[in-house]
Amino acid sequence: QDTQTAVLEIDGLRRAFGGLVAVNDLGFSVGQGEIMGLLGPNGSGKTTALNLISGVLRPDAGTIRLMGQNIAGLASYRIARLGLARTFQLVRVLDGMDCRENIKAGLAFQKPHLPVAEAELRIDTLLHRVGLAGHDRRPAADLTYIDRKRLELARALAAGPRLLLLDEWLAGLNPSELAIGIDLIRSLKADGITIVLVEHVMAAVRALCDRCIVMSSGRKIAEGATADVLSDAAVVKAYLGG
Ligand code: ADP
Repeated sequence: QDTQTAVLEIDGLRRAFGGLVAVNDLGFSVGQGEIMGLLGPNGSGKTTALNLISGVLRPDAGTIRLMGQNIAGLASYRIARLGLARTFQLVRVLDGMDCRENIKAGLAFQKPHLPVAEAELRIDTLLHRVGLAGHDRRPAADLTYIDRKRLELARALAAGPRLLLLDEWLAGLNPSELAIGIDLIRSLKADGITIVLVEHVMAAVRALCDRCIVMSSGRKIAEGATADVLSDAAVVKAYLGG
């Protein structure tokens, strides 16, 4: 065993808010270079799961292994420095800063001791990577919606994460923007980045995810290859019931 350590391996993960168990005995693993979809109706625990994995919330129980190391309960900046990055459901860019400064802030969080020249070079590459070349001095507040999304992604990618968590990153895009967004995520996979994404846009889930798990009331109710999961009767029921 163990020639192929999973990038992310979760076991027995639990988090309650008062009497409400938002994430209940959750377990799954994600292999190197995989895109894993995290599906389920509103309130099923998806964002809580991402918050636990990224250290925004502390779990009540369970292990979360990132490249074999248990990160459960570590502070989010420490988890970030171990190679995990994320985006948020509501785009979080700093409106008072331009694009370059926004990415610099992301870098500082993930890789605080990078020499300035190297950081500047990296920022140029990132701006180009997400399709914002030439916009480095534009204030984030002036960006269109999709460009804000691009910037948020660049910030998450700043330190070259091994694992990227996307919380409805494709939400709210029009059809042509959605195609661009899907291509961009595909290109990250091609670069070897492992991705877990929470997504309601089923066309995007079909286009991107190798495997999916489905949550309902905090529990995993289905897991498997995307096409199989999306045709599973229990999954359809959970969505219709949500
Ligand atoms: P999803 O992302 O699938 O919509 P969430 O993880 O946001 O679901 O929420 C799961 C459940 O946990 C919901 O019932 C929600 O109201 C509850 N919840 C989430 N965050 C908190 C919190 N900080 N305090 C209390 N309840 C919360």
